[in-house]
Amino acid sequence: MDYIFNPAPQSFIPIEGSDQAFPVRRIYCVGRNYAEHAREMGHDPDRDPPFFFQKNPNNLLLDNSDFPYPAKTKDVHHEIELVVGLKKGGTDLSLAEAKTCIFGYAVGIDMTRRDLQGEMKKLGRPWEIGKAFEHSAPCTNMVPVETCGLIETGDIWLDVNGERKQSGKIEQMIWNIEETISYLSGLFELAPGDIIMTGTPAGVGAVKQGDLMQGHVEGVGTINCKVV
Ligand code: MN
Repeated sequence: MDYIFNPAPQSFIPIEGSDQAFPVRRIYCVGRNYAEHAREMGHDPDRDPPFFFQKNPNNLLLDNSDFPYPAKTKDVHHEIELVVGLKKGGTDLSLAEAKTCIFGYAVGIDMTRRDLQGEMKKLGRPWEIGKAFEHSAPCTNMVPVETCGLIETGDIWLDVNGERKQSGKIEQMIWNIEETISYLSGLFELAPGDIIMTGTPAGVGAVKQGDLMQGHVEGVGTINCKVV
């Protein structure tokens, strides 16, 4: 059967040190996965089950690309996050199975129209307009687990114009990576190409045009992204 117009191009993340790419199927995001960030957003960081939202695969912005300041907002926040790419999926995965699904890691920023997200929270409405807008997922190349090993500890930080804004440790996640994959696989059928943005440490804040965001996850890499 012929399509009536050309299908949208496949979203992908280049693989570091390779001319291959990781084709992206879905982008899952974990809400509130670091206690200090939960507190700064006015929540109790107890061990409630994780919760999730999604961005669209074509919201990805590849590394060293500029982030265009989005429409209808006056409060765009950075959230530095460790991104996990899956090479395998399934449903109801055990923790041990979850670990074997990891293809690799990238460094991402969950850009957020905080003012719009806040209004939606207040009204009990979905978060898409705050989270899943164009270019809202800047992301580095992906580093395969064979290269970097399993990322379970290490520093995660973000600077704006050279000033440290966010800083945390991967081991401070309330739900670690295999727990997150396992839990998510109870809600959705995971598949190769799914990526998970695993939540942000404390220190989120607004950016403006001209700002340079530089974010890092130890053992994975550094993202550079200018707001234009
Ligand atoms: Mn986030």
